[in-house]
Amino acid sequence: MVKIPLIHSASYELELHDTHKVMGQKSTALYNAISAMHWSKKFETVTCSGVSPKDLTLAHDVKYIDRFVNNHLSRSEMKLINLPWSARLLKRSLLTPAGTFEAAKLALTTGVACHTAGGSHHAYRNFGYGFCVFNDLAYAALRLRKEKLARRVLILDCDVHQGDGTIDICKNNPDIFTCSIHGGQYIGPERMVGSLDVALPDGTDDAQYLSKLKDALNFTSNNFLPDIVIYDAGVDVHLNDKLGRLNITSDGIIARDQLILAFFQKRNIPVATVIGGGYSVDRSELINRHMLVFETVAQLY
Ligand SMILES: [Zn+2]
Repeated sequence: MVKIPLIHSASYELELHDTHKVMGQKSTALYNAISAMHWSKKFETVTCSGVSPKDLTLAHDVKYIDRFVNNHLSRSEMKLINLPWSARLLKRSLLTPAGTFEAAKLALTTGVACHTAGGSHHAYRNFGYGFCVFNDLAYAALRLRKEKLARRVLILDCDVHQGDGTIDICKNNPDIFTCSIHGGQYIGPERMVGSLDVALPDGTDDAQYLSKLKDALNFTSNNFLPDIVIYDAGVDVHLNDKLGRLNITSDGIIARDQLILAFFQKRNIPVATVIGGGYSVDRSELINRHMLVFETVAQLY
């Protein structure tokens, strides 16, 4: 039986105060929790090295890359990113795009692959925003195309926030379809116009969410036939998420992931998953939410 690639690095961790909205040690806790599950035997761990700053010019402005790498961004630019600069942050920011690209590349052969990080969808071509430095989703899509591994890429973003940076980077590329299904009310940068944007009202429940998702999948597949899907399975849609404003239960997240994965599996379209956003002060609660997509993948493939 072909194993499902599980892309992970021990260097994803950041040292952040417990009061920070981002949980600094999330990926390894997630990886360890997955490894303890009986279904983890379906996965095979894959590690990869980080991209080079030059590689990143596919998705980002060379000056922005250089200035971040050398810690020359201004205080206000770092404030937008909302993470303190550190050698660890730099390392992680170069590893994550490599990991998402690797997941996508391997999914083309195995049908599915999962990344224990990724979903930096607020990183724009010229600046970072909202905990995102470099955009792994846009980078992976552009590199798949550059290496002629795939021609048409669907970036399906179910994080509760709009994938605005991804849209900024991919907007002039008709072979990359950006579909973002997000809460309509949160405060953030100006909304961008992607290939398909679905803004949900505060308090949207499971049934409403799944119905909108079905419509979005049908619209997308009627208008765009991808060679691969990069799926941001953000769990900040959860009703107990610290930043989200929707009313989605854990069962709703499972149903969402099942719907999406089965939709593309039926059509023989490979899917690479990234974890996206999720915010809670309770570590195990958050890890359990992020683990849902891995368990659903293990059940379906
Ligand atoms: Zn988010």
